[in-house]
Amino acid sequence: MIPVTKPFAPPIEEYQRYLEDIWSRKWFTNNGPLVNDFELKIKQRLNQKHFLFVNNGTIAIQLAIKALGIKKKVITTPFSYVATTSSLVWEGCKPVFVDIQKDTFNIDPAKIEEVIDQDAEAILATHCFGNACDIDAIHAIAKKYNLKVIYDAAHCFGTSYQGKCIFGYGDISTTSFHATKIFHTIEGGGVFSQNPQLLRRMAYMRNFGHDGPEQFQGLGINGKNSEFHAAMGLANLKYIDEILKERKTQFERYDSLLEKLRVEKQRIQKGTDYNYSYYPIVFESEEVTMKMKLELEKREIFPRRYFYPSLSSLNYVEKTETPISDNIASRILCLPLFHDLSVQEQVLISRVLLREQNN
Ligand SMILES: *Cc1c(COP(=O)(O)O)cnc(C)c1O
Repeated sequence: MIPVTKPFAPPIEEYQRYLEDIWSRKWFTNNGPLVNDFELKIKQRLNQKHFLFVNNGTIAIQLAIKALGIKKKVITTPFSYVATTSSLVWEGCKPVFVDIQKDTFNIDPAKIEEVIDQDAEAILATHCFGNACDIDAIHAIAKKYNLKVIYDAAHCFGTSYQGKCIFGYGDISTTSFHATKIFHTIEGGGVFSQNPQLLRRMAYMRNFGHDGPEQFQGLGINGKNSEFHAAMGLANLKYIDEILKERKTQFERYDSLLEKLRVEKQRIQKGTDYNYSYYPIVFESEEVTMKMKLELEKREIFPRRYFYPSLSSLNYVEKTETPISDNIASRILCLPLFHDLSVQEQVLISRVLLREQNN
């Protein structure tokens, strides 16, 4: 069986050592020493001043929305994981979908201005598959109309834009460290901001709003993460360069194995130093896509339709026409890509696709 992704697992002895420390301290959660160490190491590695480790990438988006005080309309992408949209609705905001660019799979800045009205407060954009949005264009619009910008950078560990870590852009960037992501803490997420006051607000919010044991600074939620998750993050961090390097090798191997496959590929945004986290391919039609998927599945190979369906078709949002997103969603597959995917497996997957193309 070849799944679309498989979590990286560090040598068990290395995780075990962290567990022994945790056992000896009996400090399991609530801002423990490993959480602190993990936050520090992430900031050092990514050259970021402000970062909070939270319990998942969905809570990270919700904290960002709450901390910025956003309550009304948010301009967003229909081509992302469902958490991007559901977080907005969960927080009582109204998602306003703007279609994507057909080649980058990211929100099309040229179409943002036409949906801006009095109630528009923010833009929530996903850097899809680790590919930077047209950040310059988005920021110019945000400035002109006084909108906040949140980036859902869940796919972006290891991506830089114009020479800087991509988590440094926007009022707040969020990420996910879920086990399916390129860098993970089993479950986990993070918020980054250049604004120390916003970070402080989210730090209170992450801990029920506590400001001392009997004191509350404001409304909060439980967004904390545990020592066990921080331990996995610390153990994995040691291998992140290896993980990123292997991912690039695999990505380029698919490129050469699949040179003759008739598919469209994602265009990487200029200025992006990309992390190669996913291998999306877009077939000529939905029919061909489904045929390819079935042929792979017959051989116990499980690509995923990331992202299908378009989020503009969810039953809890206002129906919006997003033809480009719908079209890409109907024709896209992400091929298996994970640290211990073997050359033979990549060859097998490629053979199945090429053989089917000629049938
Ligand atoms: C994974 C993912 C999330 C959610 O992260 P969790 O840690 O699973 O809550 C949000 N947005 C995108 C684009 C994702 O891929």
